[in-house]
Amino acid sequence: MKALYLAAATSIFCGLAINTQADEKAVNPQIRKLVDEVSEARIRATLEKLVSFGTRNTLSNPDDPEHGVGAARQWIFNEFKGYSPRLQVRFDKYRVKKQGQRIFKDVDLYNVIAVLPGKTMPDTQVLISGHYDSLNLGTRQTNGPPAQSGGTPPQQTPADYEKNAALPAPGACDDGSGTAAVMELARVMSQYEFDKTLVFVAFAGEEQGLVGSTLEAAKARTEKWNIEAVLNNDIIGTEVSGNGRIDNSTVSVYSDEIQDSPNQQLARLVREMGERYVPSMKVKVLFMQDRVGRGGDHTPFQLEGFAAVRISTPNENYANQHTATDLLENMSVPYTTRVARINGAAAASLALAPAEPAVMSLPRTGANAPAGAAGRGPTPMIARGTSRYDAQLRWRIVGSDANLKGFAVVMRPTTSPFWEQEIFVGKVNEYTLKDVSIDDARFGVKAIGMDGTESLVVPYVYPARKKVEYETVQ
Ligand SMILES: [Zn+2]
Repeated sequence: MKALYLAAATSIFCGLAINTQADEKAVNPQIRKLVDEVSEARIRATLEKLVSFGTRNTLSNPDDPEHGVGAARQWIFNEFKGYSPRLQVRFDKYRVKKQGQRIFKDVDLYNVIAVLPGKTMPDTQVLISGHYDSLNLGTRQTNGPPAQSGGTPPQQTPADYEKNAALPAPGACDDGSGTAAVMELARVMSQYEFDKTLVFVAFAGEEQGLVGSTLEAAKARTEKWNIEAVLNNDIIGTEVSGNGRIDNSTVSVYSDEIQDSPNQQLARLVREMGERYVPSMKVKVLFMQDRVGRGGDHTPFQLEGFAAVRISTPNENYANQHTATDLLENMSVPYTTRVARINGAAAASLALAPAEPAVMSLPRTGANAPAGAAGRGPTPMIARGTSRYDAQLRWRIVGSDANLKGFAVVMRPTTSPFWEQEIFVGKVNEYTLKDVSIDDARFGVKAIGMDGTESLVVPYVYPARKKVEYETVQ
């Protein structure tokens, strides 16, 4: 995104805007350094170890000290602990009842979590996640996507799933790749300090239907965690599709289908920061919740109201997924490493950025209320100004402004996927775009921190008009 001026923009802070525009898109040396420190060799070693457990199926034998889900989760826990004494490591354990075909018995499910507390905004959390559990579906069915993830499943019985739980399920790409990325980022990032809290999560039970993430997201909502972003990594290890298509320099980021949702803002930020700090990579933003008919651990967080995206390869190889051949030799560790770096850039930038501004007001009533807004709850603070032909944007500064350089106003045509114009307006809480019609474009505002960090964009989204009914007389 290019930073542009609008010739028509007016503000008493215009001079300030010009003076500070130059370094708005700066790189932060700390982020650059940590991105460089993400180690391909470390990710490879982690993957080799994860594969060595034979299976990490959530319902596999938890008591074997070397193989199965119990050994795997304990090893991940110990690794997290070893990275830094500042990482607060824990299991979030859930007792899941037998249900459906895949959960063929009551099972103890453990998400492994490492928390790096933030310095100045410890209550705000940025999550980086993957799922450490793996699956071998046994009998293969079709050439399509794996049935477990939404292809056409043959009727597998609980007995089949029980048998499958003991089969080899190396899960190198699905989702050893995501888990190894999360662990490497925990190692690297725990050597630094951030304003917000970083949370590194290895989920279990993904293959049984997003069980671990669903329970964790519900807990987050109940306990009122302030989660700003979830970067979920699932299948970030292949650069060659089953049909031979190759691309080792693109990664997909799935958000959702709702225009200007928090998920879409997060996807845009991953693209912005990912491409800024890892310029060899293209971040392909998809305004879809996930691949067609398939699921991932970002979705339960979205459903609880948190901004979340799925980071994934655009080149899956279905032949190896959920089989004994999901092995290291069938994936690319350099590719996983580049995707891990993109995560590091986006998460670090967010964790060092000032809090996003608030753009919603209490409902206004009386003559100044926007048409139809009176009494309908908070409305975005966007108006036509005294001339009625300008775009007047207002917002509230949230939290400390210690690291706040100022705000940038962004706009784009309603049909454009990315913000096209960006105007740095300084440390103000109001800006008027002269002669710009608020009916012609989408608008947003974001907080800009020192050294080019940015909050998520908060868009001015007007609530949809509600259906009303009128009585008529005969
Ligand atoms: Zn997966």
